[in-house]
Amino acid sequence: MPARILDGLKIRDEIFSELKSEISKLHTQGIRLGLAAVLVGENPASQVYVKSKIAACEQLGLASWLHTPPANVSTEYMLQLISDLNADDNVDGILIQLPLPSQIDSKRVLEAVDPAKDADGFHPVSMGMLVSNRPGLVACTPAGCMEILRRNDISIEGANAVVLGRSDIVGKPMALLLLHANATVTICHSKTRNLPDVIRRADILVAAIGKAGYVQPGWVKPGAAVIDVGTNKVTDPAEAAQLLRNFPERLEKFRAKGNVLIGDVHPDTIQVAGALSPVPGGVGPMTITMLMSNTVKAARLRRASSIAVARS
Ligand code: NAP
Repeated sequence: MPARILDGLKIRDEIFSELKSEISKLHTQGIRLGLAAVLVGENPASQVYVKSKIAACEQLGLASWLHTPPANVSTEYMLQLISDLNADDNVDGILIQLPLPSQIDSKRVLEAVDPAKDADGFHPVSMGMLVSNRPGLVACTPAGCMEILRRNDISIEGANAVVLGRSDIVGKPMALLLLHANATVTICHSKTRNLPDVIRRADILVAAIGKAGYVQPGWVKPGAAVIDVGTNKVTDPAEAAQLLRNFPERLEKFRAKGNVLIGDVHPDTIQVAGALSPVPGGVGPMTITMLMSNTVKAARLRRASSIAVARS
């Protein structure tokens, strides 16, 4: 029987509806939550991402401010801009769209963001809060993966979870979240030996390596829950034909369009896994969703006293 599909769009809609009602309730009490986005230069992919983040703010009733300094700005300019946003009481979340141009010291800029407004959850203080399992802002993609697991009633406690990839923005925080939810967690990376054998032990597999269709169906434990974080654009017809050999409709679309989005897990894994997040439509929509959720959470934590007064 093919795997149950873990539909990220459906969960996005559920979370959006919860956030919308919380944001609107606070708005009627005179508290307007908001996100400031900083987009440096004119990178077309970054422009698309930021546009969809601003659109999500508008959909939910969050205020948003878009700052678009030119590509040649200095680190000092960025530090001043962030200091202004940190000081602005209307701003609950700050998002710095990456990558920044090479003359800017990205680390200094990201670390200048007030951790209380760290909507991306990338600040070392946010990471430290996560390590010590204290309430804080968690990186959006792994937080979204947890929502997918929880809202689909996938049992985490006591499960063997394997996280494939150890990046600061996906693999490491993902492993910590699963650990705090009482899974037994193994983290794999490019130097892991006997990877298929390690993956075969997973009741829950989270794949985040950036290699199209890398995890083979034969490596996956029958019935396992598989969260596929990978988003890889495949343009090679031979590669697409191999990956989509059992998906004639998708292959047809590839032929018409010239590219297809494939996860890190081979699409045929649908025949082995018990549950699988599709690519596209699985983890992808959750990243913006959790950015919105983090902005509201940041407001809840930072404005706790004024929210309590408004509610009383
Ligand atoms: P990354 O920073 O490039 O990290 C990749 C990780 O995978 C590294 O830890 C690397 O190991 C490991 N790795 C690479 N090849 C491997 C192999 N053959 N076997 C085992 N491990 C291997 O990537 P990332 O930023 O975490 O992103 C991972 C994927 O998720 C990408 O496809 C990215 O596009 C996608 N992504 C999607 C979303 C979304 O919203 N859906 C968000 C973020 C990322 P080493 O550490 O040993 O080098």
